[in-house]
Parts: sequence; C-alpha cells; structure tokens
Amino acid sequence: MSKRGLLVVFSGPSGVGKGTIIRPFIQSHPNIKLSVSATTRAPRPGEVDGVNYHFISKEDFEQMLEDGELLEHAVYSGNYYGTPRGKVEELLDEGYDVVLEIEVQGAQQVRRRCPNAVSVFVMPPSFAELAKRLTGRKTESPEVIERRLAIARREMDLAYEYDYILLNDNIYEAVEKLGTIIEAAKCTPKHMRDFIDEVNQNA
Ligand code: ADP
Ligand code: 5GP
Repeated sequence: MSKRGLLVVFSGPSGVGKGTIIRPFIQSHPNIKLSVSATTRAPRPGEVDGVNYHFISKEDFEQMLEDGELLEHAVYSGNYYGTPRGKVEELLDEGYDVVLEIEVQGAQQVRRRCPNAVSVFVMPPSFAELAKRLTGRKTESPEVIERRLAIARREMDLAYEYDYILLNDNIYEAVEKLGTIIEAAKCTPKHMRDFIDEVNQNA
C-alpha cells in the first residue's frame, strides 16, 4: 500500500450506537483501522486495556499532552480522552484508513489540524430513543446517564459542523451507509489530488 489513507472522524452522543456500528464495520473492512484512545476514565466491565482504550492515570495523560503526543484531546464528563498521534500517523502512512471515535471538541481540533479528514456525526432517530439506549446499556449510574444526556443535547447542536450525518435507526443500514460515506469521501477532488495531477501532467 502506498497512497496515504483517509482520516475519518466519527462522533455522536453517548449511547447513540457508535461502538455498535464501528465494531462490525471494522471487522468487515480490513483496510480500515480504529484508533485506540487514551483515557483517564475507569474501564467498564469487559473493557480491555490496549483494546478498547489505553487506560492511564491523570499524571500520565498530562505528560503525553505536554510531550505533544496527542493529535487531539478533550475533557468529557470529568475525564480526559485523547488520540495518540504516533500510531495514527503510522497507519495512515501505511495506507490504512483510520477512524477516530471522538467527541465534538476533539473533532473540532482534528478538523483544524487535518483539513483532509472526513467527519461523520451519528444521530439517533429521537432524543427519547437515545435516552432509552443509554439507560438500556446498563453501564452507567442514573447520575452519569443524566450528565451524558445533558452533554448530548449540546453535542447534537454541533451536527452541522460535520461533513455527513449518519442516522442510526436500523443498525444494519447504518453500518452499510458508513461504508458508502467513506467511499464517497474518497472520490472527492481533495482526496484524488495526486491522481488528478498525474493524469493532467501527462495530458
Ligand atoms: P455509543 O458507543 O455511541 O456510546 P453503544 O454502541 O454502546 O453507544 O450503544 C448504546 C446502546 O444502544 C447499546 O445497548 C446498543 O446495543 C444499543 N443500540 C445501538 N444501536 C442501536 C440501534 N440501531 N437500535 C437499537 N439499539 C441500538
Ligand atoms: P465513553 O466513556 O462512552 O467510552 O466515551 C465518552 C465520549 O468520549 C464519547 O463521545 C467518545 O466518542 C469520546 N472519546 C473517546 N475517545 C476519545 C478521544 O480520544 N478523544 C476525544 N476527544 N473523545 C474521545
């Protein structure tokens, strides 16, 4: 593989189904990798260090930040989250497309720093359905769910900043449509610049 891969920002309110979409999607697309973020939040039951997240201390996170090792970062619901830059660059250079599953503040930073990235915002069919999913997941306390729903209202106001909106009503359709979005993003002149220039230089 030689052509640099596409950076994909994948956001949406907590509980909308980002993880549920991205897991089967990555499995069926070997050329697309999911970046593993660093976070200071505690692992949920079943989450594995180095797979779901790099679970690190606040001190270690702040050190990474100071050393410039993070492509973007944010504080979400009282915890730090950030994308380790080195691994993402390595994968892009190898030609893989890389998905960053990150919240809205991080997405704004990536848009500024990486203008070639494509951004996708996942929306629920309704706010009531979002609340139902977040509650039904049974991984957070009622207080944490309330806090996440309050953040969700603010996040969904920022949907217009994204390149694409992915409605997660039917999960199978959502997984399928994510593939379509990425394919479409790769057909833009911005992403095809090297090819266009090469053809035109030899015309
Ligand atoms: P996120 O990663 O965005 O926080 P999850 O992927 O953990 O969200 O999904 C939250 C809950 O919603 C999970 O229990 C999941 O099974 C459920 N869910 C996800 N997508 C759908 C869907 N299309 N229809 C119904 N339930 C869904
Ligand atoms: P959760 O605690 O549910 O795993 O994640 C909470 C929020 O943090 C989600 O919106 C998730 O997308 C976001 N998030 C996960 N990793 C990162 C990251 O590296 N950077 C940023 N900015 N947000 C992240």
